[in-house]
Amino acid sequence: MEAKSERIESLVRQLIVELGEDPNREGLLRSPARIANSLQFLTSGYGVDIYKLVNGACFAQETTSMVILRDIEFYSLCEHHILPFFGRCHIGYLPSGRVFGVSKLARLVNVFARRLQLQERLTEQISHAIMDAVQPIGVGVMIEAQHLCMMMRGVEKQDAIMTTSSLLGSFRENVATRQEFLALINRPRP
Ligand SMILES: [Zn+2]
Repeated sequence: MEAKSERIESLVRQLIVELGEDPNREGLLRSPARIANSLQFLTSGYGVDIYKLVNGACFAQETTSMVILRDIEFYSLCEHHILPFFGRCHIGYLPSGRVFGVSKLARLVNVFARRLQLQERLTEQISHAIMDAVQPIGVGVMIEAQHLCMMMRGVEKQDAIMTTSSLLGSFRENVATRQEFLALINRPRP
């Protein structure tokens, strides 16, 4: 059986032909291999076991202050056009005895971003994964992103930024908590 990357390579070669190009032209000769590699990397989130990632990433800690990690850069692919959407993700949660290692929080974003995605679903998958992993009192995730499928084609809106949020637990129920989260992620950068 052919390796997966070889199968993707041959599909890309076929696609290049269908688009009216010559895959044997010098500049395109190695493109199918490059595209196969890059697509596999950009969708490598499917192969990651969330439970394994989260295990060993969480620590017991008695704190009741809100934890915020903002401006986590991410790159994803929209599932409708397989074109990039990218931007920043802001995460906040109110711990209840357990906290996340900071780098693992950023890694969690990558695992879900490196799939064929919808921004709405990406936002919710991140918030639910944090809820499951450290069972905090509440979680808030906000994503601001630009979509190339909207910028390069379709409505051709270059400056539109889409914002999605997912609020769970006290972030949904408690107005003061929600306001604290919004204030912290909107503060000017130091
Ligand atoms: Zn799209």
